[in-house]
Amino acid sequence: MRALRLSTPGPVGTGPLELAEVSDPSPADDELVLSVVACAVCRTDLHVIDGELTGPKVPLVPGHEIVGTVTEKGEGAERFEIGDRVGVPWLGWTCGECSYCLWGRENLCDRARFTGYTLDGGYADYTVADQLFCFPIPDFYGDAEATPLLCAGLIGYRSLVKAGDGKRIGIYGFGAAAHIVAQVARYQNREIYAFTRPGDKQAEKFALELGAVWAGGSNEQPPAQLDAAIIFAPVGALVPQALRAVGKGGIVVCGGIHMSDIPSFPYEILWEERSVCSVANLTRQDGEEFFALAPRIPVRTEVQTFPLAEANEALARLRSGKIQGAAVLLTDATAGG
Ligand SMILES: [Zn+2]
Ligand SMILES: [Zn+2]
Repeated sequence: MRALRLSTPGPVGTGPLELAEVSDPSPADDELVLSVVACAVCRTDLHVIDGELTGPKVPLVPGHEIVGTVTEKGEGAERFEIGDRVGVPWLGWTCGECSYCLWGRENLCDRARFTGYTLDGGYADYTVADQLFCFPIPDFYGDAEATPLLCAGLIGYRSLVKAGDGKRIGIYGFGAAAHIVAQVARYQNREIYAFTRPGDKQAEKFALELGAVWAGGSNEQPPAQLDAAIIFAPVGALVPQALRAVGKGGIVVCGGIHMSDIPSFPYEILWEERSVCSVANLTRQDGEEFFALAPRIPVRTEVQTFPLAEANEALARLRSGKIQGAAVLLTDATAGG
């Protein structure tokens, strides 16, 4: 089978993936072999490739927003049938024994394994996944359209829940996660204030089309005081800016796995019970809630598809902010566009 592989992570911009012919995977006891149909490209993939996330499996097949068809099952894998369409998210395995797992916080498991980081992922014709961490994909969604739900959707949803019940929500970085969160927030009768790269009129327009009540540069102040802000852009300097935009008791949620350093800031912008927190990974519970909710809203995803062999091009466009919605790799090159 074909697989896009990372041999040497980082530094930034020097780690293109190599297209390799490798042997097909075979399933362990609880695993499924999936014929990958589509796999979305995530900002986290760039952080892994650039060496900003340490200790990846090498060589590594990236990709953690996978939609595929079950072609083979391990002896203990009873949850899905051959031919079923399933999704594979970032959280690939947890121990089930540590205090985090036992208290319903498996996203923080000490021994967790992650798809496309410490486990091989979906930039390939086939992949394997633990059956307990796969999700059935709602029929409402096409294959490519479903892929961004598996990370952008799940992490976005978890970030929105963390942001609390406030009405006015700021979103910094209007990419794949934001375009999904905006739809959920609107469904909940909340107002979205979208902050994009200064001068990115295209992204502002995209945000307004998705129902944002205001869109502007990340260096601007919104027209109203926010109840919460979610930062998806990997830019630490946005943390003090977001703290200045939220009112008393406001919360700033950092939704990304990596961020540049946060500059120091005066205590007065944190004072009055403002808070800053991060969102790490996902739980299977998040997945069940979100996949039940998404087709009811319904959340629609915007995707730009690429043939699998053009993964490096998709990554380059994501890096330079040229992707609207989510970039998705298709294994059937004739379906690319
Ligand atoms: Zn991701
Ligand atoms: Zn654990």
